[in-house]
Amino acid sequence: MANNVEMNICVLGAGVIGLTCALNLSAKRGTSVTVLAKHMPGDYDVEYASPWAGANFLPYGAEGTLLAQLERETWPELQRLVNDVPDAAIHYQPVKLYNRAKDAGSPTGEWFSSLMKENPWYQNLVPDFRVLSPSELPEGVDSGKGFTSVCINSAVYLPWLVSQCLKNGVVFKRAVVSHLSEVYGMHHTGKQADIAINCTGLSSLKLGGVMDTKLFPGRGQIVVVRNEAGVMPSISGTDDGGDEVTYIMERAAGGGTILGGCFQKHSWESQPDPNLAIRIMKRAVALCPSLTNGKGIEALSIIRHGVGLRPLREGGPRVEKERFDGKWVVHCYGHGGYGYQSSYGSALEVERLVDSIQNTRAKL
Ligand code: FAD
Repeated sequence: MANNVEMNICVLGAGVIGLTCALNLSAKRGTSVTVLAKHMPGDYDVEYASPWAGANFLPYGAEGTLLAQLERETWPELQRLVNDVPDAAIHYQPVKLYNRAKDAGSPTGEWFSSLMKENPWYQNLVPDFRVLSPSELPEGVDSGKGFTSVCINSAVYLPWLVSQCLKNGVVFKRAVVSHLSEVYGMHHTGKQADIAINCTGLSSLKLGGVMDTKLFPGRGQIVVVRNEAGVMPSISGTDDGGDEVTYIMERAAGGGTILGGCFQKHSWESQPDPNLAIRIMKRAVALCPSLTNGKGIEALSIIRHGVGLRPLREGGPRVEKERFDGKWVVHCYGHGGYGYQSSYGSALEVERLVDSIQNTRAKL
């Protein structure tokens, strides 16, 4: 029986993707999982995308793509966590998506293009989907959609994922790996790992044995404030430049409200730009005046400014197995601005790939 084959697995990376994969794999019979990572939940670093995310669920994947499948498979689990697991720190939030025809073709317009489509594939997935009436649209907006989504407090959610992994016996180790081949000798049992799961996000661009040149950063700058919005509006573009956008997300469980942002492709800049921060705050307050009860940006109470690099990849995320030095690696990276909303789907896909490897071994 394939299930009786013992599997030592090393997951490289402790972002939302590595942790979700580790949680899923550690729940399987016969697996022993080590998570190895340079950064762990609690760390804030520009090389570590996950803590900077809002994070909400806005399905960006075009119909028929792997990304759309991963998003579709993630939604039910996020909904279950909201309904049944309060300590995961995820809550429902009403979304309002605003589209300006003139943003078509701009970097942010392209980013939003599937989301803003007429009759999008996700309309039957998320609750309360509707087309906004003209009276609900702010000035300059041509069309809009509304539905019920979620917002994840990543500062609580990532440690919660660690705690769930620990319950399943996962062992966490700090490690800085320069070549994928090093991973196999780092399983906590001292035995060789049978499979490495590569969840290194943008760092797969430089990781020896991978060096995937399809990866590039999509810089995002945010302002985290104490003010409450009660709604998650996003707009397809701004008049401040083709790579600037406006979105607001109120995190669950006192996590503050994220004001964004931008989508600066190929920018590695780790420091917040103060001028951009002002534009972000002005646009957020203009889109949602209730943030400061009509009092302007001076009434925003700032917790912090931040910058994260979305691990974008030409062609979308890479989720596939590969034979490596006589062993197996399953890659799972390149989740751009959609790592949370595709996390459980990604972990399921990784599990299918691990199962296929396990079945091959069982036949030997
Ligand atoms: P990361 O979080 O970057 O983790 C990579 C891990 O690999 C880290 O633990 C790192 O230390 C480790 N690692 C890398 N290289 C090595 C090495 N050589 N040796 C050891 N360890 C290594 N997504 C959503 O779904 N919804 C949102 O609303 C959303 N908003 C976002 C807003 C912003 C501003 C940004 C920046 C991103 C947003 N995202 C959102 C995207 C999401 O944050 C990413 O897709 C996700 O965090 C990627 O997770 P990851 O685990 O692949 O990578």
